[in-house]
Amino acid sequence: MDIIFSAEELAFQQEVRTFLKEKYPDDIRKKQDSGISLSRDDMIRWQKILYEQGWAAVNWPVENGGTGWSPIQRYIFENEIGAANAPEFLPFGVKMIGPIIYTFGNDEQKRRFLPDILSSDVWWCQGYSEPGSGSDLASLKTKAERQGDHYLVNGTKTWTTLAQYADWIFCLVRTSSDVARRQEGISFLLIDMQTPGVSVKPIITIDGVQEINEVHFENVEVPLENLVGEEGKGWTYGKVLLEHERTNMATVARSEYRLNRLKEQAGQSVHGGPPCMDDPNFARKVAAAEIELKALEYTQLRTLAAVAVGKAPGPESSILKIKGTLVQQMLDELLLEAAGYYALPYVPDQYDLEFPNSERIGHGAETRSSLKYFNNRKASIYGGSNEIQKNVVAKHVLGL
Ligand SMILES: Cc1cc2nc3c(=O)[nH]c(=O)nc-3n(C[C@H](O)[C@H](O)[C@H](O)COP(=O)(O)OP(=O)(O)OC[C@H]3O[C@@H](n4cnc5c(N)ncnc54)[C@H](O)[C@@H]3O)c2cc1C
Repeated sequence: MDIIFSAEELAFQQEVRTFLKEKYPDDIRKKQDSGISLSRDDMIRWQKILYEQGWAAVNWPVENGGTGWSPIQRYIFENEIGAANAPEFLPFGVKMIGPIIYTFGNDEQKRRFLPDILSSDVWWCQGYSEPGSGSDLASLKTKAERQGDHYLVNGTKTWTTLAQYADWIFCLVRTSSDVARRQEGISFLLIDMQTPGVSVKPIITIDGVQEINEVHFENVEVPLENLVGEEGKGWTYGKVLLEHERTNMATVARSEYRLNRLKEQAGQSVHGGPPCMDDPNFARKVAAAEIELKALEYTQLRTLAAVAVGKAPGPESSILKIKGTLVQQMLDELLLEAAGYYALPYVPDQYDLEFPNSERIGHGAETRSSLKYFNNRKASIYGGSNEIQKNVVAKHVLGL
């Protein structure tokens, strides 16, 4: 495993750092650093800045409008974004549906959808999970019946992240029940959210925000040309996407950023009391988190070294997902503990009434640590729960 970057790679790292220094907007930076949710406009503005730089699609080949970067360049780029605590590119378009369309879609679909995904002019969401079909996704029931020139879609998708902003949704749907294996009756459909019969119902998370939703389909007519690839092959396409989703979940650089924030915060006295770091038990927990993070970093680098010589990410992506989210949640807990009573849960709307005009920007991170703590319980559930990832490791790594 060679983890020494070449002169060109170091120059590239410097280029990314300079870009972040010059182009990362101050108002978005302040929100990120204070743990304030970004608005739809903030997210699109940032994505368009990356697009204008030619850096929207770091995982796409050049012929499709991507950067064509090597795995090491992608690693450096994502590391620098994390280290600056800059927002991630939203995954649904560029990381999820884009690669499915350029790999399995037809020429017309590529022409129609890829440019708007790159420029963030169309917002996508992911319609896989259903009430009763999450871990056991192959049991999904949303039905798409072929009728003349369209499919008639009926059913419900759930936990659909940011569907309230979405223009389009990509869905796994059941086109046949008359198959030997459940997976063979599943197809991959692209659905315009403006089609009559599509409705979005918010699910408010414990931190008081609308991040996820239910999406209902009632007699929704979807043109046949919105089918990706072959009917009945949706499961194969969808699985490719999930492996990619998991490799991005280690978030080492962002966790390092948060660890440094934790050390800074816990090293200070709160209202005249001793700093948390003076408590040996607290310091021991910080050290344990740091050790886990270092081990994760080396595991990720080992995976990178394999991918750099052309191997596909295998069950390692499950290990990275389990450990990456474990470290995130260790840090959530420690940041909460370090904030002490400033971390008491609060209702953002009430707070914003009392302190209007973002007065708390730059000072509110401690108070928001409770919101982050509650919100981020999700990390060990989405993208395939950690228990399911452990099953994958047991089967494919340990051979159990
Ligand atoms: C914040 C958030 C955002 C999400 N965004 C999206 C999205 O945009 N689009 C989308 O399609 N989905 C999304 N999901 C759904 C996510 O993929 C599912 O929640 C996840 O796959 C788990 O499914 P489930 O919620 O139905 O739980 P279940 O599958 O019912 O699992 C319940 C519990 O049982 C455990 N369990 C289940 N089966 C096994 C087993 N065989 N062995 C051991 N333990 C098991 C699970 O680990 C879990 O703890 C999101 C989820 C969350 C929390």
